[in-house]
Amino acid sequence: MRVPKICRYCGGVIRQIPAEEVYREAAGRLKLNGEWLYQCQNCNARVGCHRGTMRPLGNVANEVLRLKRVETHQVFDAFWKRRHMTRTAAYKWLSEQMALPENQTHIGGFEMDQCQQVIDLCRRAEEERSAA
Ligand SMILES: [Zn+2]
Repeated sequence: MRVPKICRYCGGVIRQIPAEEVYREAAGRLKLNGEWLYQCQNCNARVGCHRGTMRPLGNVANEVLRLKRVETHQVFDAFWKRRHMTRTAAYKWLSEQMALPENQTHIGGFEMDQCQQVIDLCRRAEEERSAA
């Protein structure tokens, strides 16, 4: 993913900022200390980075997409925990299902349609299991 420079929503300038600047006291709880974000200086659309790097996870997200990414994370995390999978195994499964390289399988960088795809995949896998 290349570094976003201009906001796709409003054309504003995107800056790289420490995660603490956005999350304040919550940064520690979210394990984001020392991590980086890209954020539009005009409309606050933003995206996180791969841990310990300045490489963005995907394109910047507005409020609606951010909420969708959060929802998707909740569905996916609950899904693999219910199945007693490891996080690594879960992401490997997801990358196979979505036909994406593992290093691009990050919900924090997904678009609306990809988020929905994750939710649908989890739902379908649960249905198949309960039907078996
Ligand atoms: Zn913007």
